[in-house]
Amino acid sequence: MISPKIQDAINAQINAEFWSAYLYLSMGMHFESEGCAGIANWFRVQFKEEQAHAEIFINYLLSRGGKVELKPIAEVPTKWKSPLDAFEATLAHEEKVTAMINSIYALAEAEHDYATRGKLDWFVAEQVEEEETAQGLIDRLKMIGKDGLALYMLDNELAARVYNVPAPLATKE
Ligand code: MG
Repeated sequence: MISPKIQDAINAQINAEFWSAYLYLSMGMHFESEGCAGIANWFRVQFKEEQAHAEIFINYLLSRGGKVELKPIAEVPTKWKSPLDAFEATLAHEEKVTAMINSIYALAEAEHDYATRGKLDWFVAEQVEEEETAQGLIDRLKMIGKDGLALYMLDNELAARVYNVPAPLATKE
């Protein structure tokens, strides 16, 4: 049985992952309407990944005999000044998510819950990737500046992103 403290922390994380999904879906809608179909696609894939993150935590909590509590998802922004603005918001948000994951990790260690700590290892690595990807796109968008052709090329590139079921969900069954 999982401890009430860790159960609460994981429930808060499930909510944060769904909020992330909502945020990226909102970004996807925004860039779709701005004519950046590739950037929109990138955020829609991100939306699916975040839902998968929530599901991984849900499955884990259930496997430990815990109780999943789905809380309301707070409102998300609906407008961004530019792709750079959106990716900077993405990085800032992912840094917050990383801090949340790290604090559950520390809690798991303090409570000697090594199963939870082990489960979080995948998320720790995932957060490194999330931050690296967002930072990489920020760097490229800064390089692009006001060059419309360069932005068009990046948009085309991001149109190719496809959703892959994250490993902890793909291997669940
Ligand atoms: Mg996530």
